[in-house]
Amino acid sequence: MYDAVAEGLRIHAYGGDEREAVATALSRAGLRPPERFFLRYPHELSGGQRQRVVIAGALVLEPELIVADEPVASLDASVRGEVLALLLRLRAELGLSALVVTHDLGLAWNIADRVAVMYLGRIIETGPVEDVLRAPRHPYTQALLSVLPEAPGDPVVLTGETPDPSRVPAGCRFHPRCHVLAAGGAERAGVATACRTEDLPALNGTGASQVACHWARARARALNGTGTGTAGPDSPTT
Ligand code: SF4
Repeated sequence: MYDAVAEGLRIHAYGGDEREAVATALSRAGLRPPERFFLRYPHELSGGQRQRVVIAGALVLEPELIVADEPVASLDASVRGEVLALLLRLRAELGLSALVVTHDLGLAWNIADRVAVMYLGRIIETGPVEDVLRAPRHPYTQALLSVLPEAPGDPVVLTGETPDPSRVPAGCRFHPRCHVLAAGGAERAGVATACRTEDLPALNGTGASQVACHWARARARALNGTGTGTAGPDSPTT
């Protein structure tokens, strides 16, 4: 495991004490005493310990930002909690920012401050986790949340072809599968043509809640009573 953690240091031609840096990173990742893990092979570790070694490999470079892609997807429920607690503790103790990529909305709810929902390579809704997951405005986010066990109402079953990233649909990229468009909701809001023809730019994922959807934007305009299309503070940004 020593070499796995030290790899980043070597790539970046670290000039300090490599052994000490590796030991510190393993220790921060909860593998103590660290020397016990130096000569271990992956098959000698549990799934949770292997994930901690991966985290140590990221920590060893003393980053300001960690990118974790499905960090607990392969772990048992009990170990998931431990690894998530570790990530949250490290974030607080080391002042780290963490970008977690996941398909698990429950995970996002438990550990995130902000969430960005992506569809076909674009952020289509973003904001504080409470806003996006409690009151989703994009039909895709609504569909994702509707299939959670505790979700009220019937689940939204998406129709249409699974998207091909090399052939992005014209207009809103979600429109071939959008249940709001299919059920006439966009038509009633006067945006059905826009859904099929007008692309929506990617959101930058910062600031207040944002959503890339003609229908959600029309609803926000109606709620704000402006009728002008000008986005208010809580209006979707497109
Ligand atoms: S822009 Fe139109 S097609 Fe796209 S998600 Fe919104 S309602 Fe559906």
